[in-house]
Amino acid sequence: MSDCIFCRIINQEIPSKIVYEDDEILAFEDVNPLAPIHILLIPKKHIATMDDVTEEDSAVLGRILLKAKEIAAEKGLNENGYRIVNNCKAHGGQEVFHIHFHLLGGEKLGLFV
Ligand code: AMP
Repeated sequence: MSDCIFCRIINQEIPSKIVYEDDEILAFEDVNPLAPIHILLIPKKHIATMDDVTEEDSAVLGRILLKAKEIAAEKGLNENGYRIVNNCKAHGGQEVFHIHFHLLGGEKLGLFV
């Protein structure tokens, strides 16, 4: 979608610090980090919110969670742990309407980061 900021990152129309990329998934550093490590993982398919996920998306979402675990290990977060967050729609605090998963870590996180 041309008006979606994360689709524009996927298409390299907006720069980002890419951590991982394959045919289905992109991981990049959050521009406004809320923790020492703050990475966003997204499917390349435009899915607006968690509420729009269908059965056919289950494989890529599973791959995103496994990739988050792998990146966490690469960043040295696996020993002390980390947090994976999805914000859904207005009450969930979602600001960008292309589904994404925040990987946060590197310090003891508060209850609501
Ligand atoms: P959410 O509130 O869950 O929708 O989170 C959206 C996240 O996207 C926020 O943490 C923003 O800092 C992040 N973000 C917005 N624009 C960019 C960008 N151009 N590059 C990297 N991260 C971004």
